[in-house]
Amino acid sequence: MEDASNTYAPGDESPAASGSSYAAPTPAPDPDIGRRAFRQALIDARLLYASAVDGIYGRSGLFESIADGLNAAISKLGADQHAEVMRFPPAMPRRDFEASEYLKSFPQLAGTVHCFCGSDRDHHRLLARLEQGEEWADQQRPTDVVLAPAACYPVYPVVAARGPMSAEGMVVDVLTYCFRHEPSIDPARMQMFRQREYVRLGTAGQIVAFRQVWIERGRQLAGMLELPHEVDLANDPFFGRGGKIVADSQRELKLKFELLVPINDGAPPTACMSFNYHMDHFAHAWPLRTADGEPAHTGCVGFGIERLTLALLRHHGFELAKWPRRVRETLGGL
Ligand code: AMP
Ligand code: ZN
Repeated sequence: MEDASNTYAPGDESPAASGSSYAAPTPAPDPDIGRRAFRQALIDARLLYASAVDGIYGRSGLFESIADGLNAAISKLGADQHAEVMRFPPAMPRRDFEASEYLKSFPQLAGTVHCFCGSDRDHHRLLARLEQGEEWADQQRPTDVVLAPAACYPVYPVVAARGPMSAEGMVVDVLTYCFRHEPSIDPARMQMFRQREYVRLGTAGQIVAFRQVWIERGRQLAGMLELPHEVDLANDPFFGRGGKIVADSQRELKLKFELLVPINDGAPPTACMSFNYHMDHFAHAWPLRTADGEPAHTGCVGFGIERLTLALLRHHGFELAKWPRRVRETLGGL
């Protein structure tokens, strides 16, 4: 890996070799050492602002300008898709969330929005609990809103409500913050992060062809950004014992591929893009139909905006002026 700038020297943090003559068994490398070091370097350089909660960060102006550059590069790559642009807030109706069966597969990641809906008396109780440092959140009531777990989820009910699609099907361009409850010290595993996606809806053949095109374009983008990468078969983190079977079947059917980039020293490479084929799953949740009335198939390509930004910082350093010219041009002349 290249030197990542004068502010962050990867490898510094490895445990020093001891000079003792006792040949202790080599300890397995701790992937968290590299993660912690990179996280600290980002915070020290004020690229990310830490909070009291792992995985919730503020982003600096520099970080955001890289993120904006990435979004512009992705738009350029997808200009021929004639995608309908849809922008949703990072929340969606609870009813749609239930229909999506997200809770069946990933209950551990879901975030629901709860609010105070009580009386004056309840309010006094709430304030008393707060004052005494007691738990108060169990008094909050669920609302009709949940946090978006992926950028494409709000698209399906909107398209389904329009009735059958045309024979060409459609492509939708989405970008939103997503929530996943996976607190971690890994700076690349956030609890709220942005996904930019192109979502394809249509026939099975249209989705499979779309995904192939985007795997190639993903590789092309990573190449233009001069990021070391590989594309590999993947699976989602389905919950529980039953989840193992679902994950195995997802792999067997080759439904998910990821583009991985090494970000943290001593840790496995990180998924920065994913290429997904959902078959007709979402047509069972909502009446998504093709032109001839068949259940529509769907797929999406997702770009992890924070992870790609972190990968760029990791490989090209913290000073934009020192980044390769081609990379800066790809990002719209940063
Ligand atoms: P997925 O829907 O899990 O395939 O995620 C799509 C993309 O979002 C991934 O390839 C990552 O780049 C990004 N992503 C997923 N989870 C996280 C996370 N916890 N923190 C930051 N980025 C994430
Ligand atoms: Zn998606």
